[in-house]
Amino acid sequence: MLLQKINDVSRLSAALIIFGTIQSCMPKRVTGLSEPSKNSKMASVNMPIPDSLKSNVQSGAIDGLTLEVIGGTCTDNSSGTNIPKSLRKIGSNGKVADEKLKKNCDYTIVLSLGKASANGMSLEKIYLTNDMDGIRTQVSRDKTSVDSISIVVRLAMTEEGKKILNLGNGSIDIPSKPNSESDADIKIDIAKPGSQSTPPSAITNYDWKKDVTFSDVPTFDFSGADFGSVFYKDIMQHTPSNERFSMISARSTEAHESLHGLNNAMRNRTKQDDGFFYFENGKGVYVPQPKKVMAKVKDYVGPNFKAIASSRYSLYLITQVKDWPEVLYLFDEWSAYIGTARSSIEMANAGQWDKGNADPIDGLADFLYFCSASIVALKDHDPQSLETNKQLKAAFAMLAEQSAHYIKVASKMTTHWPTSDGEKRFQMLQSDAENEKIRSMLKTYMGADWTKTHLGF
Ligand SMILES: [Zn+2]
Repeated sequence: MLLQKINDVSRLSAALIIFGTIQSCMPKRVTGLSEPSKNSKMASVNMPIPDSLKSNVQSGAIDGLTLEVIGGTCTDNSSGTNIPKSLRKIGSNGKVADEKLKKNCDYTIVLSLGKASANGMSLEKIYLTNDMDGIRTQVSRDKTSVDSISIVVRLAMTEEGKKILNLGNGSIDIPSKPNSESDADIKIDIAKPGSQSTPPSAITNYDWKKDVTFSDVPTFDFSGADFGSVFYKDIMQHTPSNERFSMISARSTEAHESLHGLNNAMRNRTKQDDGFFYFENGKGVYVPQPKKVMAKVKDYVGPNFKAIASSRYSLYLITQVKDWPEVLYLFDEWSAYIGTARSSIEMANAGQWDKGNADPIDGLADFLYFCSASIVALKDHDPQSLETNKQLKAAFAMLAEQSAHYIKVASKMTTHWPTSDGEKRFQMLQSDAENEKIRSMLKTYMGADWTKTHLGF
């Protein structure tokens, strides 16, 4: 039985590799790792993983298997460019593993398994890792001279992992057999010849955090409850009291409407014609308004999607357009739906879901679609904004990455939202033939690496 459990974890990583894709939304290095003591025993394939870990993996609560290439130098690159650091999340429903190492380079590979933070941007807890001096997995350049390599990453339990998962010292005191199979076998593709000459900047995913200019949002007194949601409280603390919305029966709607208020208050602080979109922890981004192409966006919505999203299509893309000709109005709604979805998920995870929203996800999926369509509208009617408005691109990525993440997380929480079709709507964007033009435009605008990593196409 215990062996079965670790097999499930191994199968998880194996399955992810078979998918051929690595889900990436972890642009920053994991910090706060609780290091195992120097004399921690290596985990072996027989290491007992408790049921709690197994069930967490299945429910998606452990949503942070990451593969990180933390270093490397290419010998075949005349400029001797260092391989940029990267951190790739392999979500438990992960896709994309066509991130490739370059040929003839040395690499240091780190793999960690743990619990992702609520926003999926980092691992807040790490249970298993090889991220310690001495057991990081080194891959030498002679190995990467072929097209594909298999490596074995020998994971060790962290002290924190032992505590959280209720593992006594004895339970991991199983010496690993040198050179034997171990916790995670990983197959990694090496970039095909020719791609080595691609500059790192061109093969690296677009990272909005490098482009974004964040602005600080003032903090306001807020003594109310958080209802189990860190993001709910975060929104309330950064929304002026006169802009906060109260709806006792639906706290996620309070988060949504207050986020509108927060964005609005920030917009009113400047004379510029721009939109403001809150991220988290008192930070958000101002985006200069592109041309008024709002009325055109409806022309880019396919008939199937128009049918499934008919009420929001009519309200936001038809009725409201006369009052809100600015395309960033759609982004503001999008931002607010992240408030709905994220606060709902956090409340549900904390056991404090108030059932105030039958489907807190479909709105997010609709606006991921509408705002993607607005990029095509901008290409046709204000192409310059796509070339010069860096904050627009950063905000688009910021909102899209969060949307894809929360739609995926929510799709596993079927007991809470059995009728949600947020995932179905997302899949229509990903694969319905009518949306090929949108997908193609996003690949052009954001880069195919980015769309594949974050949106799955
Ligand atoms: Zn709204």
